[in-house]
Amino acid sequence: MGPGVNDFYSIKNAEPDANGMIEAVVIPLREVVLFPNLVSPLFIGRDRSFTAIVQAHNAGHTVIGVAQKDPELAEPTEDDLYKIGTEIAVGRPLRMPDGMTSALAQGRRRVEIVEILSRDPVLRVRAKILEEKSRKNREVEALMRAVLTLFQKCVDLDEDIPDEAYIYAMNVEEPGWLADLIASALELTLPERQALLENIDPVDRLRKVSVILGRELDVLELEEQIQTQVQSEVDRGQREMYLREQLRAIQTELGEFDTFAQELTDLREKLDTLGMPPETLLKVQKEFARLNAMPPLSPEVGIIRSYLDWMVDLPWSKASADNLDVTHAAEVLNKEHFGLPKAKDRILEHIAVRSLAPDDMKTPILCFVGPPGTGKTSLGKSIADALGRAFVRVSLGGVRDEAEIRGHRRTYIGALPGRIIHTMRRAGTVNPVFMLDEIDKLGQDFRGDPAAALLEVLDPEQNNEFTDHYLDVPYDLSKVMFVTTANTLDTLPSALLDRLEVIEFTGYIEEDKVVIAKQFLIAKQIKAHGLADSGVIFEDDALRTLIREYTYEAGVRNLDREIANICRKIARKVAAKEPFNALVTADSLFERLGAPLYLQSKAEETDQVGVATGLAWSEGGGDILAVEVTLMLGKGDLAITGSIGDTMKESAEAALSYVRSRAKDLGIRDSAFAKTDIHIHLPEGGVPKDGPSAGITLATAMISAFTGRKIYRTIGMTGEVTLRGRVLPIGGFKEKVLAAQRAGLTTVIYPKRNEKDLIDIPKAALDKMTMIPVSTMEDVLGIALEPAIVKAKVTRKPRAKVPTKPTITPKPTTKAPPRNRKTPPALPPVS
Ligand code: ADP
Repeated sequence: MGPGVNDFYSIKNAEPDANGMIEAVVIPLREVVLFPNLVSPLFIGRDRSFTAIVQAHNAGHTVIGVAQKDPELAEPTEDDLYKIGTEIAVGRPLRMPDGMTSALAQGRRRVEIVEILSRDPVLRVRAKILEEKSRKNREVEALMRAVLTLFQKCVDLDEDIPDEAYIYAMNVEEPGWLADLIASALELTLPERQALLENIDPVDRLRKVSVILGRELDVLELEEQIQTQVQSEVDRGQREMYLREQLRAIQTELGEFDTFAQELTDLREKLDTLGMPPETLLKVQKEFARLNAMPPLSPEVGIIRSYLDWMVDLPWSKASADNLDVTHAAEVLNKEHFGLPKAKDRILEHIAVRSLAPDDMKTPILCFVGPPGTGKTSLGKSIADALGRAFVRVSLGGVRDEAEIRGHRRTYIGALPGRIIHTMRRAGTVNPVFMLDEIDKLGQDFRGDPAAALLEVLDPEQNNEFTDHYLDVPYDLSKVMFVTTANTLDTLPSALLDRLEVIEFTGYIEEDKVVIAKQFLIAKQIKAHGLADSGVIFEDDALRTLIREYTYEAGVRNLDREIANICRKIARKVAAKEPFNALVTADSLFERLGAPLYLQSKAEETDQVGVATGLAWSEGGGDILAVEVTLMLGKGDLAITGSIGDTMKESAEAALSYVRSRAKDLGIRDSAFAKTDIHIHLPEGGVPKDGPSAGITLATAMISAFTGRKIYRTIGMTGEVTLRGRVLPIGGFKEKVLAAQRAGLTTVIYPKRNEKDLIDIPKAALDKMTMIPVSTMEDVLGIALEPAIVKAKVTRKPRAKVPTKPTITPKPTTKAPPRNRKTPPALPPVS
């Protein structure tokens, strides 16, 4: 500070007249209210003010500083000024380097302008000195102390207030002065300051200041709070950034960072294109954030990474467009499959309805039921081809754990999604044809019920929100077309069965198999083995021999395999450039495949006593079932062997009871039963031996054994028998008839009440068989047993009654020329 700057101290206050009035020049102040006793700089912009101040300074006079009501006004008149101002002493104005002029000013007294003396060149006024009375008591003391405390806090929090302000305040003893000091230290609006200047009651003024202080403090504290928060966040962010930078440096050094970061970026870019539902997207983004915040070497990174991979790889909205052209679909289905009219029609109907009402249609859940190798899977594939959808397939055979369907929660080590989600990923679209194979082989144990999970998958009401434990977000399966397959419906829970639209696939007869082989299998295998140009030809005879002697099945799976076998052998020669025989004849099969697996038919070689041929049904299709009965001297015991089930045992007992009750008519002596042990044996075979349908076979075999009448070997029979000898209907009729044909039988005895099922049996099969419906055991015996009267070995006396002649003369429903085989005529004598 140069000389004379502080010389406002030496300027004396204006001398008041008798009325307490002073005369002085008025300096209009912009945005400034000067309080008595306080020193502050004045910035002097206006030339008029500058001149006035210089003159007053030089004359040693005070001036009156009055705030402009509107700080923007350049040339305020008296009306633009407040009435109350402050008498001030101003030091010598100084020119600043930036061209501004400023001077220090000290407030002296509050004054109120009462009269304008002159306006030009400067405003001169007469003003009244506003005296204030000093009033101090304990209350005021307390107020002052309180205000000081508040002020102290303010100073602490507000960086704009210098710390010394508090020290000054501490040393002020007048309440009014304290109020003025604080008012000038705080950042107040002009009207607020002016109001405080105009308030000449010191205590009241201090109170007002304390209110302002309180308010100010609130704001400051809030600011401080925000500040701290921001600060701590900034701190944490900085810390993390710093650490991550370091880590990145280390990883870059190790060559790890780039791939990891790149992979993450790739994943994230993919994410936005997937069309996930918003909640799912949110969850995935959260996982991303977690992953990002994790050092790449943390063990959890792998877990989150594979989760994210799963989420990104799953189809969320990508769908293939359906081809709903029925003609096209029919072409595709027929091109790839022979027969199967029911299944094909159902699918074409579905496509037709979909093309008319694309959105309202619930996709049916088809269930293809039938023996293996009957084209269930390959038809499913064709449906997908016809519709232009992806085809995926998952086998449920042996699945016992619910988690195999629904996945494991991620808390498990090595957790993965279940088979459904796995398969959807493979499908790549949200609307594949999804084949669930072997739903009849689903297990159930302590690990939860997979069938229940499957129910959810197949329930159109629920499957738009299928939950896989691993994904932990709902996944929409509602666009999927599910096709299930099963060999039998017996083991399906009824709740599951309710959802399914069952379509039966029956076994094929020999003719069908030949056609299938010629039209489909051979071409397929030739192509698959690269033999298209080798001129391979299968003769029809070769196919028949393959079917009869190298396979024994309801479907064509093994036939397919044997054809592949032959093709493979030819391909090997072609590849080795060895000579080969492209013509596959029946005679060449031995050389190509070795000895036949099934010599001739499975039917008995000769007519025998006590040996009857039953027909059985299993998941693998139908089969024949030999029943042997031997009688031995004993005491009337019945033994049954051949690992057979309880129902069949009971059925044998019932058959025996029937035989005993009709002993007389059958020409068996009553005493024979008491002295004879009966042994029934069912030799091993591929079919489960249970159920009641062997009833008539068991009874026939026993009667044959007791009477010594032989049973025609070419007759197969099936039917349950009651104690009174009535024949009841059975299941699996179709498969049984086809099995009979396959086994080389020529006549089938079946319950009359199964006649209605004849329409399901291929005509070609019926043409070859003699089908004889029966309603009583007498009918059966009349057909199956040789009429010749032979002594039963256990009856002592050779006297045997001629059996009563059958009461009903059964008529074969279909008559066909006997099969061209070296077998005796199949038809029993008709009496
Ligand atoms: P499933 O699923 O019923 O066990 P597959 O669909 O696997 O049987 O069929 C076995 C093989 O037999 C496949 O190669 C299939 O193409 C063929 N096949 C079965 N039935 C037919 C048919 N009606 N027409 C053409 N090929 C068939």
